[in-house]
Order: sequence, then structure tokens, then C-alpha cells
Amino acid sequence: MNHFLTIEGLPADDLNGLLDDADEFVEVLHRPIPKVPALRGKTVATMFFEPSTRTKMSFEKAAKALSADTMSFSPGTSSLSKGESLKDTVLTIKAMGTDAMVVRHKATGAPWRIAEWIEQPVLNAGDGAHQHPTQALLDSLTIRQHFGTLEGLKIGIIGDIRHSRVARSDIQAFSTLGAEVTMVAPRTLLPVDAAVFDATASEDLDEVLEDFDVVYVLRVQAERGGASVFPSLSEYTDRYGITKERFARLKPEAVVLHPGPMNRGVEIEGAVADDPRALILDQVFNGVAVRMAVLFRLLGGESNE
Ligand code: ASP
Repeated sequence: MNHFLTIEGLPADDLNGLLDDADEFVEVLHRPIPKVPALRGKTVATMFFEPSTRTKMSFEKAAKALSADTMSFSPGTSSLSKGESLKDTVLTIKAMGTDAMVVRHKATGAPWRIAEWIEQPVLNAGDGAHQHPTQALLDSLTIRQHFGTLEGLKIGIIGDIRHSRVARSDIQAFSTLGAEVTMVAPRTLLPVDAAVFDATASEDLDEVLEDFDVVYVLRVQAERGGASVFPSLSEYTDRYGITKERFARLKPEAVVLHPGPMNRGVEIEGAVADDPRALILDQVFNGVAVRMAVLFRLLGGESNE
């Protein structure tokens, strides 16, 4: 593995191998001193051209827990605002000496372009509505920890799938790991190319809700046009919100996941988000472990094992 750009095409063995490594890093993160020397002397640059809370901090925490140094680029305070191009920005950061670049960008494919310009590993931390591969790993890990396997589970992904890089990566990972995925959304928020997804589609949440072992709730991505395709947020909540009433109708062992950031009261009611069967903060914790696994895989080398 030279880069980590997409879930597409990763076989189940590779996914499970990364999840097994992540399980070991979960154990490291629970130690009194949650740190190992595996990447001492390496530098990881985080370059987020789009906002982030969880993914950016979690990559930084992961790099530090492996004893790597981190450098962080923030577009608002950088020379991007003086007209510097993406390529010059990347080459500048490379010239300072970095061993890996973690990139989030609103343009689909940006991390692939960067991977053509530098020989160091590039990790995709979300490109447009396309891919968010480490999110798919942390979601798979959270579900695997809870149920022991994804094999045979019924997973409903509910909400703005059309604009969601999380949904694209998750559907690929979940179906590769043996789950049965249903996309639930109004037609206008289902992917245009829904037929190519390894998932069935439904527009009626109330009809399919009780089948699910996992309810995966997505935010309406207003910044990508998601809110403009239905009449009002309250209408969306009426038909697709995970309210207390809908939560009460789930199988008793079903769990709720959300990638964050949540819009409480829109796609998920606050009381559901705070229920012990909502694994949202477990997802956040597991995010650090899976990012350690990926960084270690790319930068660790045999001498560090
Ligand atoms: N944090 C996730 C992402 O970056 C999901 C979201 O923004 O709704 O794609």
C-alpha cells in the first residue's frame, strides 16, 4: 500500500487486516501512557482545505500516539489567500520535510492529484462527495466491535446519500464485509447512479426501519446543495428524522451511528444521539485507532514492527 485514497477495490482480507491492527491500537490507547514509538522521527502533515473537527484532530492524535511529529496547514491563514496554487502549496510543504500528507479537499480527486506530485504517502481525509476511506474503517470497526462481525447484518444508511463521501465509502466497506445495505432517502437525495451501488434503495423509512441492525444517520449536506432538494427541514425530519418514536420501533439490539457533525433536531433527535445505543462517541474514539493503523501500515516498515 503506497497511499490510502479509497475503499473501492479493497478486498475483505485487507479491510479485516486493517481492522485487526486497529483493535491492537485500541488496546494501546487504553494504556496509562497511550503511546508507542513506532513512527519516531517521522513527520505527518495534515492539510485540510475544508473544515473538520473530528478527522483532523484524530489524524493528529493518531500520529502523536505513534510518536510522529505533526505539521498542520490551515487554508484561511495560508498563502492560498494570496493566490498560491494547490501544487505549489503541496511542493512547499514537501520541501520542509514531511513523510506523509493527510488531505481533505472539496474537489473530488484532489488527493489523487497530490499523489502524482509527491512520492510520500497521501491519505485521503475526504474529497468532495467522493470518498472518506478512514471513516469507513472506523465505522466498520465500531460495528465489528459491537456485533463481532458485519457478516449478515442489515444496515440502513439514512439521509443525504447523494452528497455523502461517507456513504460511498461505507457502502463499499460494509458490503465487502458481508453486510446487506439499504440506502434510505428521498429520491432527490439518493445517488444519481444508485444502480451501481452494492445496496438496495428505499424512499420509505417507516416501511424498512424495523429490519435494521444498524441505523447509520447522515447529515443533510447543505454546503453541497443537500438542503435545496426538499421543501423544508421540518418536512425532512417528519419523513426521515431518527426521532424518539422511530428509535422506539427499532429492534431492541439495533444501534445508531452518525459520522458527525450532527444537526440535532434535524436528522437525529437529541435524546437518540445521547442514548447508550448510539455509538457516536465510540466511532470518534475508534477513529484514532484506525488512523494509527493506516499511518503505521504506510510509514511503519518492517524495522518498526
Ligand atoms: N464529517 C463527515 C465528512 O466530512 C460527514 C459530514 O460532514 O456530514 O464527510
